[in-house]
Amino acid sequence: MNPIIELENQYSAHNYHPLPVVLTRGEGVYLWDTEGKRYLDMMSAYSAVGHGHADPRLVQALVHQAQRLTLTSRAFYTDRLGPLLKYACELSGQDRALPMNTGAEAVETALKAARKWAYQVKRVPAGQAEILACEGNFHGRTIAIVGLSSEAQYREGFGPFPAGLKCIPYNNLEALEAAITPHTAAFLVEPIQGEGGIIIPDKGYLRGCAEICRRHHVLLICDEVQTGLGRTGKLFACQHEGVQPDGLILGKALGGGLLPLSLFLAREEVMGVFQPGDHGSTFGGNPLACAVALKALKILVEDRLPERSAELGEDLLQQLHRLQSPLIREIRGRGLFIGIEVDPQRVTARAVCEALMERGLLSKETHDVVVRLAPPLTIAREQIHWAVECIIRTFQELEENYPASTTKVSSQ
Ligand SMILES: *Cc1c(COP(=O)(O)O)cnc(C)c1O
Repeated sequence: MNPIIELENQYSAHNYHPLPVVLTRGEGVYLWDTEGKRYLDMMSAYSAVGHGHADPRLVQALVHQAQRLTLTSRAFYTDRLGPLLKYACELSGQDRALPMNTGAEAVETALKAARKWAYQVKRVPAGQAEILACEGNFHGRTIAIVGLSSEAQYREGFGPFPAGLKCIPYNNLEALEAAITPHTAAFLVEPIQGEGGIIIPDKGYLRGCAEICRRHHVLLICDEVQTGLGRTGKLFACQHEGVQPDGLILGKALGGGLLPLSLFLAREEVMGVFQPGDHGSTFGGNPLACAVALKALKILVEDRLPERSAELGEDLLQQLHRLQSPLIREIRGRGLFIGIEVDPQRVTARAVCEALMERGLLSKETHDVVVRLAPPLTIAREQIHWAVECIIRTFQELEENYPASTTKVSSQ
C-alpha cells in the first residue's frame, strides 16, 4: 500500500472514503499525483473550485493581502469586508450579508435568522418556530443541520436533534403547502439537490415555492452553496426561474478554491433581526478571505463563467447522451453540474469513479448510484471532448467487467 495513504489512514478519523490517489499539485482543470500522473478534475472539490486550480489572479490577490493584513476579527472594521459585501449584495439583489466560513455555518446563520424573524416580525409564539426542508437535502454536517437530514447515516448516533425542524418531499408543491402552519418560519431548499444526486426539480417548482411562501408569510431560503456562482449556468440557480429568495446561502466556490468563505445574504427585514452579540465568527469576514472572494466574484463576472457553464454544460450533456450503456439509468444536469445515475444492480458509482481514475479523470460518487461531473467552469471544449471519450471507453470496459448476470454488487 502507498505509504502516504497508509499514514493518512492511520492518523485520520475515517469519516471519508477517498479514492486511492495522492494529489500534490493543481493547475487549471488538472491535478497531478505524487507519481506525476495528470488527472482531469471533474469533481472540483464538491464544486468549490469553480475558477480552476491556482488561477494566478486569485493567487496574487491572496499573496498581496497576506502581506498586508489577514486577520483582525470583527472587533474592528477592515478595508476589505465592506467592498466584498457590497458586491455580493449587488450581484444577488439582497440588502445585507453576514460572512461566515463554511457552508454549514452560513446555513446555521440562516436558520437562526429565520427563527428570530419568526418571533420578532411574524410574531410566532416563543419557542414554536418551525423550519421546513426537503427530503434528500444536503445542508452540511452540524447537529442542527443533520437534524434536518433525511439520510439515516448522517443522523444515526448523533441525536437528539433540535426541535422545530421538519422534512417534506422535494419537488412537491402540495406537500409544501400542506406542511406550512402559522408557526412556519422558513422553507430551506436547494434549487437543484447536489449531494442528493444532482436532482433537478420540475420546471416551475421553485417559482411555485416562492409563491406559496409569499402567500403564507414564510421565508424562502435558497441554499446555493453548491449551485451558486455559475455552477448551473446562471450566476445563481434561482435565476433559472426568476426567483428572488428572502435569504440566499453561498459558500464553496466563493473562496475561489483557495480558502473557505461563506455568506448568508438576505433582505433588510430578515437581517435586521441581528443585534451586536447575537451571532458571530472569529474568522468570518477576515480580510484575507474577503480579498480573495471579491476577486473570485469579479473573475466570475468578467470571464463570463456562468455563461461558459451554460454553453459547455449543454455540450457535455448532449455528448454524454451518445452514451447508451445498460449500466446507466439516467444522465441529467444543468450547466456544468451533471450526474450519471448507474443501475445499482449492475455497478456501483464508486466502481465507475475508480475506473475513471485509472484513465485519468477524477470524480466522486454521491450516494451509491450517482457519478457527478462538475469540472471547473474554466474547462475548455477540447477537454470536455476528451472527458466524454474517456467516460464512454470506461463504460464499455465496465460492461465487460460487470455483465448482466452479475447480481447486486456490494457497495464500497
Ligand atoms: C457543501 C454544501 C453545504 C455545506 O458546506 P460546508 O462548507 O461543507 O460546510 C451546504 N449546502 C450545500 C447545498 C452544499 O452542497
